[in-house]
Amino acid sequence: MARPDESVVHGSKAPGETGSPSEPAGPKDLPAVDRLLRQPEVAALVAEHGHTLVAGHARSLLDSLRVQALAGTLAREAVAPAALGHALGQRVDAALAPAMRAVFNCTGTVIHTNLGRALLADAALQQVLALMASPNNLEYNLASGGRGDRDSLVEDLLCQLTGAEAATVVNNNAAAVLLTLAALARDREVIVSRGELVEIGGAFRIPDVMTAAGVRLVEVGTTNRTHPRDYEQAIGERTALLMKIHTSNYVVQGFTASVDEATLAGIAQRHGLPLVSDLGAGSLIDLSAHGLPREPMPQEQLAAGCQVVTFSGDKLLGGPQAGLIVGRRAEIERIRKHPMKRALRVSKLPLAALEATLRLYLRPERLRRDLPTLRLLTRPLADILATAQALHAPFTQALAPRVDVAVVDDLLGQIGSGSLPVDRLPSAGLAITPTQKKGAGRALDDLASALRSLPRPVIGRITDDRLILDLRCVENHALLAAQLPLLADRLA
Ligand SMILES: *Cc1c(COP(=O)(O)O)cnc(C)c1O
Repeated sequence: MARPDESVVHGSKAPGETGSPSEPAGPKDLPAVDRLLRQPEVAALVAEHGHTLVAGHARSLLDSLRVQALAGTLAREAVAPAALGHALGQRVDAALAPAMRAVFNCTGTVIHTNLGRALLADAALQQVLALMASPNNLEYNLASGGRGDRDSLVEDLLCQLTGAEAATVVNNNAAAVLLTLAALARDREVIVSRGELVEIGGAFRIPDVMTAAGVRLVEVGTTNRTHPRDYEQAIGERTALLMKIHTSNYVVQGFTASVDEATLAGIAQRHGLPLVSDLGAGSLIDLSAHGLPREPMPQEQLAAGCQVVTFSGDKLLGGPQAGLIVGRRAEIERIRKHPMKRALRVSKLPLAALEATLRLYLRPERLRRDLPTLRLLTRPLADILATAQALHAPFTQALAPRVDVAVVDDLLGQIGSGSLPVDRLPSAGLAITPTQKKGAGRALDDLASALRSLPRPVIGRITDDRLILDLRCVENHALLAAQLPLLADRLA
């Protein structure tokens, strides 16, 4: 509907036609919302997206243009019908564009927490697609026709792969640790070595998690050395369990001593206490068989005598975010029955992906092909180098002459997510250096920012006055190269 005042505001002329071309546009040059919505290209937007969204953005566009018009800074071209239609289309597109987007991980860190950790295997994606838009047997027992338990969908697999008697799954490993402690040690004491009181990142510190779980932390030993007698002496009436935490994101080197799981399990057993191990990354396969540094495996921890082992689903396992708790039936039952389990339980979406991921481990010979995380971690250097060589020309073409682009084969990446911090992954990529020394720092920041502004953002790192793009995790270099011509505009 046309507003009654429309003809008064615009007279007989269309917006944009009044005034001389050199004068800035005034508020009267702007159309009313209804009039803008009737413009053919805007009407097409309304037909596609509906009135609510388009009218809302039409209003906010006109509001912001009115502010500029009142300030005398609105260019006359900006109020032409085509320009208004275009600006509105851009606002609508921006509102509909997802905030969570695919990026190129050129950081050199394969399992990068900020970039979403493990990439899901194709089998896991297919399972999510097949199940999420359909009713499924999440908590329905198809054999009995009665209520089922979501844990049972993966419990047998987890037991088979780790040798555990029982298993349960929660939202993430932080939740796994929290729930395990709350269920097994509430209002009692948990003994931990001072050398293992780690901060995992963000606000996740082992001592704080213990407090949140309502257990009292008893620290034993020193930062660099803890002995069996330290644990022995700390055990008392109120002790609920001994805990071992994999110090995944740092190493203590030099004059050190720690008590291994088997020894600790002996001590725990003599006092009738459970031993709980938080592994963090926890690999289900021996990574050294794939030429990678060894990482502790849950099955080894259980075999060494731990009663409960917790680890993440989206670190070395290569699956979705999840916290896996495996171990002795008695402890797992207590954990499962704790009221907090309901609050921390895993949803059907990651559970579907987790089951499919775990099933890949039944065919270990194919794992390198089937599991993207393992494929990337074991990607041959020659392959990464070939990617770097393929991208050299497109980068040079897009950025010359302001920068120098070089292929480098001496990069050191890392596994990430806390695992194996001192073991580096030899890698290759591109090193980009500004040709002008003056203002080089600023130029690098601008370039990094322009790369992040691409349709599929490219995330690198700046070190030693170079922008480094580690290409281990870029498997589709054509996709990356195709968007590089856009850089010219963004750097202009
Ligand atoms: C990563 C990690 C956690 C937390 O696991 P999330 O899956 O991120 O919740 C806990 N403990 C250790 C030792 C870890 O490495």
